[in-house]
Amino acid sequence: MRLITYQQAGQQRLAATLDDHAIDLNRAAAALHRSRGAVNAQALADATVPADMVAFLAAGKDACLAAGAALNHLAAIDREEARRDLLILPMSDVKLLPPVPRPPKIICVARNYAKHAKEANLPLPELPILFTRFANTLVAPGDPVIRPTVSEELDWEGELAAIIGEPGYRITRERAMDHIAGYSVFNDVTVRDYQFRVTQYTAGKNFRASGPFGPYLVTADAVADPHDLPITTEVNGNVKQDANTNEFIFDLPTIIEHISEFVPLEVGDVIATGTPAGVGFKREPAEFLRPGDSVKVTIDGIGVLENPVVAEEDALAGDGADGFA
Ligand code: MG
Repeated sequence: MRLITYQQAGQQRLAATLDDHAIDLNRAAAALHRSRGAVNAQALADATVPADMVAFLAAGKDACLAAGAALNHLAAIDREEARRDLLILPMSDVKLLPPVPRPPKIICVARNYAKHAKEANLPLPELPILFTRFANTLVAPGDPVIRPTVSEELDWEGELAAIIGEPGYRITRERAMDHIAGYSVFNDVTVRDYQFRVTQYTAGKNFRASGPFGPYLVTADAVADPHDLPITTEVNGNVKQDANTNEFIFDLPTIIEHISEFVPLEVGDVIATGTPAGVGFKREPAEFLRPGDSVKVTIDGIGVLENPVVAEEDALAGDGADGFA
């Protein structure tokens, strides 16, 4: 399944995408229960197919099976009725949010592609190098990335994201893949001068509206091999990064084993797996994102994540690109 989180009337809701439509899974489940004569159809749907992504992932295989049954029932539902009841929505009417809007943790891997380490003149790591992002840096698909007033060194980093579906602590590499609910696309947009002016990455990796994430969470069963996915980043249609996740220095089992050695992983946690070569700051001459640019990360079979770049003063002239005035 390709899952999204979308916003409707101030609510965040889960849907599956089917062609160019979104199917609200919780409402589809309620329709199925109603068709079976259940008097408490909505309560049954809320219990089995929660409308919230993290609650849905936490419900595991049972929720996926119930969602599958609800999707199968679609054929029996009158299309006009389904549209009126907001069970089926054209994607063009859907306001996307990051698939997990507020992950409990966002853990990013630095320097996980050898060619990227080389272009940055940095040694290959012997253990995964990790840093964290705050959830309120996330940007929905299509929403603006902010180019801050305090720096011109805004750089792209296309990455594969893995989303945790089963919590765990001290997870062994043999069991690690069972803890992944699915995959998405991440753009770990970085303010380079802030990244490197001290030894910690926190500031440079946590600027406001700097973390595009989405559009889909593609469930793990629908991804044949996450370690063999072509990944590209384009700026205004020009390819800047062109690689494959088979170039990872540390694979997902190693990363998950390493992280869960010190911190329990929770449902909805996001792991950004590092960026390949081709970032802007090591180009000759250096290139950075500017207001008016469009930055697009594509991972085959996972999705296309595209965002415009907007100057902070313009983004904040309205109500704030991320809802903060
Ligand atoms: Mg990165």
